[in-house]
Amino acid sequence: ELILGIESSCDETSVAVVKDGKTILSNIVASQIKSHQRFGGVVPEVASRHHVEQITYCIEEALQVAEVRKTDLTAVAVTYGPGLVGALLIGVQAAKAFAWANQLPLIPVNHMAGHIYAACFEQDLQFPLLALVVSGGHTELVYMKEDASYKVIGETRDDAAGEAYDKVGRVMGLSYPGGKEIDRLAHLGEDRYQFPRAMLHEDNLDFSFSGLKSAFINLDHNAKQRGETLSQEDLATSFQASVVEVLVTKTIRAAKNYPVKQLVVAGGVAANQGLREMMQQKVEEQLPETDLIIPSLRLCGDNAAMIAAAGHVEFAQNKLASLGLNACPSLSF
Ligand code: ATP
Ligand code: MG
Ligand code: FE
Repeated sequence: ELILGIESSCDETSVAVVKDGKTILSNIVASQIKSHQRFGGVVPEVASRHHVEQITYCIEEALQVAEVRKTDLTAVAVTYGPGLVGALLIGVQAAKAFAWANQLPLIPVNHMAGHIYAACFEQDLQFPLLALVVSGGHTELVYMKEDASYKVIGETRDDAAGEAYDKVGRVMGLSYPGGKEIDRLAHLGEDRYQFPRAMLHEDNLDFSFSGLKSAFINLDHNAKQRGETLSQEDLATSFQASVVEVLVTKTIRAAKNYPVKQLVVAGGVAANQGLREMMQQKVEEQLPETDLIIPSLRLCGDNAAMIAAAGHVEFAQNKLASLGLNACPSLSF
């Protein structure tokens, strides 16, 4: 079985060929970050235009790198939500046209399910499974009793973790997206500012990051008014310490309430070294029976291989779409 995956929900145009839901034959990712940097964030209209320009080249390159012909393909899987409507529509239209022209079944994929299934390239997934999905637009704990079954047991009440990283990065004068650079700086400073750990002691599995963001902005603003410059390293370390402690503590708590065989950490923020290290350590200490799976760095961010992998399980359950498939910008589990 060969699935062509297509992803265009935000600022990466990506096309992949995945064999049997396990082996990545190609995974082309055309990033638009440079075009959005001067605006300090993703500009939806600019994103759509880039997707239009890139999508056919990405499809051709994915087939070429995989050394696969169109006639060898089994199906086309495409992200139809959540994401930017104009961006999603480019991938969805391309997938529909490709499926129609080549007489292939069309598999609609939820982008967040894709992030979770990125873990299957590291290790076979076993259920029940708990996933912490942390990305630019989402922060949620998802319980899966079996393949393609999703129950959200906790989520952010305001900002997503990645969004908080990027907003704080902007205040620090870092280029968009700030997450990766804050992560680098965080290994060089001290947790001097002891930012709040929101909802840590509340009896639920939800998150909140807007209070942390405000605390950071106030600290920075007050220092500037006094004419002081704070250490970028200490700011980054303090911010990251708060985010990571809350994410890890709540995830461990969730896994104790919902015993599972595997714990997956997925999404763009799963690339965070501080989060990866702390999660590894706490899972070893507190959940010795649970397998922790975190996708390799290049599979944490948006890519089409993860969409093809999620498409593979949907395909096995015969969950197909007609050519009437539309983009669903606010799709949830
Ligand atoms: P969603 O998946 O919710 O639709 P998205 O697709 O835009 O949103 P992703 O591409 O999954 O988000 O992740 C991008 C986010 O990951 C950005 O906010 C970015 O700053 C963050 N990120 C990437 N690397 C790191 C890192 N090392 N540390 C912290 N955050 C990071
Ligand atoms: Mg992105
Ligand atoms: Fe994403």
